Amino acid sequence: MHKRLLIFIAACFNYSGLVRLAHWWTQYRQQCLIVLNYHRATGGDLRRHLLYLRRHYRILHLEAALEELYTPRKGGSCPCDRRTPVVLSFDDGYSDNYTHAFALARELQVPITIFLIPGYVESGEYFWWREGERLVRRTQVDEVTIEGHIYHLNQPDERKVLAQAIDSRLRHAPSVAQREAFLAFARQILAVRSSIVPQEEPTLPLTWTQVREMEESGWVSFGAHTMHHPILAYLTDPAEVQCEVGECRTMLEQQLGHPVRAFAYPIGQLQHIGDKVLHAVKQAGYDWALTTMYGFNSPRSNPYLLRRVEVDVSQHWLVMAAETAGLWGFFSRLRWIPIIQRYLKNPL
Ligand SMILES: [Zn+2]
Repeated sequence: MHKRLLIFIAACFNYSGLVRLAHWWTQYRQQCLIVLNYHRATGGDLRRHLLYLRRHYRILHLEAALEELYTPRKGGSCPCDRRTPVVLSFDDGYSDNYTHAFALARELQVPITIFLIPGYVESGEYFWWREGERLVRRTQVDEVTIEGHIYHLNQPDERKVLAQAIDSRLRHAPSVAQREAFLAFARQILAVRSSIVPQEEPTLPLTWTQVREMEESGWVSFGAHTMHHPILAYLTDPAEVQCEVGECRTMLEQQLGHPVRAFAYPIGQLQHIGDKVLHAVKQAGYDWALTTMYGFNSPRSNPYLLRRVEVDVSQHWLVMAAETAGLWGFFSRLRWIPIIQRYLKNPL
């Protein structure tokens, strides 16, 4: 119901001309850059998203878009194409970014930018943030005790609680070594072999061979997303923060053969960043860093706290269009969508 309501509202925005008005307002109000934040490329209609965006926006690689944003325009000059620039960024480097996003980028001639985690490209391991759910799904035991708590895994509620408990432990780990040690313990106690089953393959990391092929095509640029994707603000050792941020850049530059200028913070809200992380990113020599905080960017935006608009390939293209035009952000500030949602749950 919720999904259908969103599509209905988005359709009203689009067909009433409100989306077109928002485009016009964004173009003429000030110089602006919209960075969309995708993760997966399957599970929806990415082709429809790209066709819409290609028609209504000027799609650029991240690096070119940021160069343009921060280069003062001389004498009021502006690009011949006055459409608002948009960057399509994909975080984490899922293998479906190669099989689907890259395939579509090449076919439709649309540039995209992928933020990679070199430690996962090297190891080919399942990403840690998907492990809680996966371990519980694949466990072969009926009962397990973790940190003094007994979980009865024949009960769906307890399976869900265990998956959340594992995820929380991994998420708040004070070091990558402790996170990996807990993960190894959880795999062992739940008797889950590390082998990958076919349906998990689209959620595995990209390989270096795929990365190099995408790089050579010219349709994909790459940014850095730490070596192992810890939540940087939770790491207790500043040297490890510096290492996660700096080594990531070094390894990507070795693989790609050119400077890597952009970084994306894992998880990426302000509470996951903090001053020491900001300092480490500047120290590592990046020119720009992207958060997951909502918003559009202007020449006055802090280049180390750039904003993005989170979108998902599973969203209907009408919803994505309203999101990209800034209408969800605008109306959610007015708080009327939550009021409708509340009404639908508890009609008068
Ligand atoms: Zn990430």
